[in-house]
Amino acid sequence: MDLKRNKLLEKLDKKHLWHPFTQMKEWERGTPLIIERGEGNYLIDTSGRKYLDGVSSLWVNVHGHRKKEIDNAIKAQIDKISHSTLLGLGNVPSTTLAKELVRIAPAGLTKVFYSDNGSTAVEIALKMAFQYWKQKSEAKKTKFISFVGAYHGDTFGSMSVGEIDIFVEKYTPLLFKAYKAPYPYCYRCPVGMAYPSCKIACIEKFEEIVQRHCHEIAACIIEPLVQGAAGMIVSPPGFLKRVRQLCARHDILFIADEVATGFGRTGKMFACEHEGVTPDFLCLAKGITGGYLPLAATLTTEKIYRAFLGEYEELKQFFHGHTYTGNPLGCAAALASLRIFKKEKTLQRLKPKIKLLTDLLADLKALAHVGDTRQKGLIAGIELVMDKKTKKPYPMEQRIGRKVCTEARKYGLIIRPLGNVIVIMPPLSITTAEIKRMMDTVYNCIDGYSAMAKEDTKTAE
Ligand SMILES: *Cc1c(COP(=O)(O)O)cnc(C)c1O
Repeated sequence: MDLKRNKLLEKLDKKHLWHPFTQMKEWERGTPLIIERGEGNYLIDTSGRKYLDGVSSLWVNVHGHRKKEIDNAIKAQIDKISHSTLLGLGNVPSTTLAKELVRIAPAGLTKVFYSDNGSTAVEIALKMAFQYWKQKSEAKKTKFISFVGAYHGDTFGSMSVGEIDIFVEKYTPLLFKAYKAPYPYCYRCPVGMAYPSCKIACIEKFEEIVQRHCHEIAACIIEPLVQGAAGMIVSPPGFLKRVRQLCARHDILFIADEVATGFGRTGKMFACEHEGVTPDFLCLAKGITGGYLPLAATLTTEKIYRAFLGEYEELKQFFHGHTYTGNPLGCAAALASLRIFKKEKTLQRLKPKIKLLTDLLADLKALAHVGDTRQKGLIAGIELVMDKKTKKPYPMEQRIGRKVCTEARKYGLIIRPLGNVIVIMPPLSITTAEIKRMMDTVYNCIDGYSAMAKEDTKTAE
């Protein structure tokens, strides 16, 4: 290891990088952990230290790092061409991938529009839904409905349908207004009831809004089964299906934002499959390339597609397209990732891992400050509270989530919190032994922090 080089890298990072979602004043005070290499489910820093990648490099990695088949597919594609545009031309990998995506997606989704990140995949769905109704001469259908706690990305359209205050509040004057319905956050029930005796009563508010305003609502957007950025909030069985049915009944298009939940995270290829739902739009990004390259896709139906057909001068086409749309390297990586799903039976092999995670999460419940644990597939959220009885949250300034995650690094685990929620989202390739070690570390760090917090809060940083 080259100490001098490492120090220089740390210095240059602080000097020139502006990190996402980061208070840089705080960052400048710390010592950045700089990743140099990856190996399977591990990240390796510039000092050669190895860490289990407990959040899949921000929810993207699927089969591990340096996966031979994906590495080779990208290299082979480089030897042909790295990029060519889809504006006015086709290219080989994007065509093949479109066919594969249609094959694995819920039936009825037959058209693929590419972009390069989750936010744009959502923007495209919103714009298509909006334009669809215009071209159907339903000029009044211009609004959207989404859910409390929703996160759909950081661009203006996706922020407008998002609802996490601290992310979007500052931009409010620039956002369009969208209807917001309560989401079944069962630990802190929005209607003060308890599942299952509530019979998902919180959906009544959604029903009320769509009944009253369906003439002006173009589409509903939802994160199926798991609201990610809100803190891995898992909706009870049946909620998604009922939202879908209400949309169909009231002629509201249904957008499934599976940017986080897609590609096996929930135990099935797509979260919608758990409830037999076919959306009008399916937004995909994060895991699509196995976590290798920025690529996204918005899938839709023949019905939507046909509304954009016409003579050129009618100007019905979809006026949208990103420069790197359908990038051949990204598509080659995605094709390789899908081949691995098949060859390694990735989804079937998840079952014992999911079960093990369930068991280990149950152990966590015994800890003094673990208020709630939530899980769907290999996604889990652990909500830490100051007082279990009253569910009183930790104050934001205590940075409890961050402290626990920083502590975990000492034991070779990279995880990242969402406020007071510890997020667990490992690559699907994680082994049961690694799940055990990961959850042991999480247990000890939460337990250790609770003990420490009693004495002094300034330590764990
Ligand atoms: C991450 C995420 C997005 C945004 O994706 P980016 O690639 O960061 O733009 C949108 N929706 C959901 C559900 C996400 O988790």
